[in-house]
Amino acid sequence: MSAKNIDWSSLGFGYVKTDWRYVANYKDGKWDEGTLTQDNTITMSECAGVLQYAQTCFEGLKAYTTKDGKIVCFRPDLNAERMIESCERLIMPALPKERFLEAVRQVVSANKEWIPPYGSGASLYLRPFMFGYDSVIGVKPANEYQFRIFATPVGPYFKGGVRPLTVRISDFDRAAPRGTGHVKAGLNYAMSLYAITDAHEKGFDENIYPDSATRTYIEETGGANIIFVTKDGTVVTPKSDTILPSITRRSLMYVAEHILGLKVEQRKVRVDELADFVECGLCGTAAVISPVGKIVDHGKEIVYGMEGMGPVIQKLYNTLRGIQMGEVEAPEGWIYEI
Ligand SMILES: *Cc1c(COP(=O)(O)O)cnc(C)c1O
Repeated sequence: MSAKNIDWSSLGFGYVKTDWRYVANYKDGKWDEGTLTQDNTITMSECAGVLQYAQTCFEGLKAYTTKDGKIVCFRPDLNAERMIESCERLIMPALPKERFLEAVRQVVSANKEWIPPYGSGASLYLRPFMFGYDSVIGVKPANEYQFRIFATPVGPYFKGGVRPLTVRISDFDRAAPRGTGHVKAGLNYAMSLYAITDAHEKGFDENIYPDSATRTYIEETGGANIIFVTKDGTVVTPKSDTILPSITRRSLMYVAEHILGLKVEQRKVRVDELADFVECGLCGTAAVISPVGKIVDHGKEIVYGMEGMGPVIQKLYNTLRGIQMGEVEAPEGWIYEI
């Protein structure tokens, strides 16, 4: 595919090979200078750490064309910081923050043609990732690592209007107490595939995971944090050490409090209080925030509304999306111009 004949509005969320990706290698205790390459394949030992013991972590962020034609990324410094935390937990050498940001800049600049225009609803998704590269057969961290960022154009999330999701309370666990739920490790996704396939087969869009230890409190879904709205308009998000700290969720909570003037709470949310909320949304880079229409808890249905976004979630969505598109003034430091 060439960027020139892309119909931006018909793009989905899938991989499209773009022209350039960034690669840096870690060897003998240091990172090389890094480079852009056109080669989208990787050759490595059959015994590479990533292949045998899943030593890998990743990030996800987007580049957009704003209203006034600028190319921007949304808070990439937080992706850089989160990846450093993921690396620490997986005994991987982190790429320093400034180098991460420079790699983002290089990949976006090199793939300018692939950045969807303002108003298309599409964007250029960036996938930074790192993995253990050299051979390990005994269980131990690799000695050599590769860091990459590739870019792929992705379509508008709400094609043909918003479809509120139907989700279930999962019987599977996502994150063990004191485990790796708070970092963006590939292994968290590998072990969620069984649960998401099972959910889809049974007609659910997603799994909501309660805390693994007590199954009393709400945590998050397989790939998105959760926001609730109470009857009196307070925006609530679960608090737990095993939730992945979503940049979108942190930004939405800031928007709720400081731009929309709403009351916000980050606290433990019990499974048995779900029916007390009036709106619910799943938040992450892909969709900003997707409304949950219905939660099914073992046959008991909690319905928030299958017609579209509730008023508070709609306001949160419009404001954050407006900030990303350059239509609403951004809090300082949120927009990173390429
Ligand atoms: C990536 C991710 C999110 C969303 O994070 P954003 O920074 O908002 O994209 C939420 N939950 C999990 C488990 C994730 O891996």
